[in-house]
Amino acid sequence: MRHPVLIIDKEKLKYNTKSILKMCKEVNIEVTAVTKACCGNPEIAEIFVDCGVRILADSKIENLERLSKFQVTKMLLRIPMLSEVEDVVRCADISLNSELKTMKALSDVAQKTGKKHNIILMIEMGDLREGILAEDALEYAERILRFEGINLLGVGTNLNCYGGIIPDEYNLSRLASVADSIEEAYGIQLQIVSGGNSGSLYLLRDKKMPSRVNHLRIGEAILRGIETSFHKKIGNLHSDVFSLRTEIVELKDKPSVPFGSAGFNAFGEKKNFMDKGILKRAIVACGRQDVLCEQIIPQDTGIEIIGASSDHLILNITCANRQYEVGDTIDFSLSYGALVAAFTSEYVHKVFF
Ligand SMILES: *Cc1c(COP(=O)(O)O)cnc(C)c1O
Repeated sequence: MRHPVLIIDKEKLKYNTKSILKMCKEVNIEVTAVTKACCGNPEIAEIFVDCGVRILADSKIENLERLSKFQVTKMLLRIPMLSEVEDVVRCADISLNSELKTMKALSDVAQKTGKKHNIILMIEMGDLREGILAEDALEYAERILRFEGINLLGVGTNLNCYGGIIPDEYNLSRLASVADSIEEAYGIQLQIVSGGNSGSLYLLRDKKMPSRVNHLRIGEAILRGIETSFHKKIGNLHSDVFSLRTEIVELKDKPSVPFGSAGFNAFGEKKNFMDKGILKRAIVACGRQDVLCEQIIPQDTGIEIIGASSDHLILNITCANRQYEVGDTIDFSLSYGALVAAFTSEYVHKVFF
């Protein structure tokens, strides 16, 4: 096996996917599975589809292209760029939108190709990333309904991202009432009220999800088994679907404080070092170009990360729970950010078992 490698446990991923789908189905919520953290990896998408996912979503066209072989609905999560509207209509059946200029362009392209492109109008609920202000919703809806290449499929919101605002009964009820008022004003039915991402799942457990919310876009909860508002484990979902395996290339006893005249490190930082005497240090072949080194955790609880450069991760293995030799491997658990980085690095191999 080549290292570093991201090891992916298919059975655990299946279990997580099925559990989330079941949980949501019980309260009439359709789950769109989000593949962006795994760069639209087709093997992962295949697991989602086999488990019953009917919509796959990603934030990048490149990833949606990678998913084109799956006969399910595709959704573009990030507000489209004006320069990519042709690709959006070609690769996605649904996109999340907030700009009339872009929706007009999507409509024109869709009309030319004889398709209807579906729009979820994003409403700002306080997190201050994408979305129109709620008070502008009727005006936007009126304009959108006149775009002939477009079908206004519903409204949605995104929370937990920029401002760290938590989805709750209050902001999601407001989203639902925006949907109601659009329906009332224009005599239409909106199929989807999309109430957010993995951060919204705790509302199911607490039985506080407004009944009008019938759609969620879920990535991290499936991949890591946690909800992202309070970072609590969901039921008995697996939080160890992924692990990162690295290989030891150097093993030496060395001092804990660098010697010589001190300047900047490889990343332009000046660091202070504490003298902890001579340490048993291991270098593994994996670094900042491959993963967020501050956000991985050695599975051997006696190991401590002491530093990293682009391709080297330096570990203190003085108190490790076993003996290591050059060529041995050391495994790590990953945060969401570290997982995204590992998937994005072509130097990190991916192995399913
Ligand atoms: C990334 C993203 C999601 C999925 O978020 P998770 O926290 O991984 O569930 C949902 N919606 C939008 C708009 C996103 O950008």
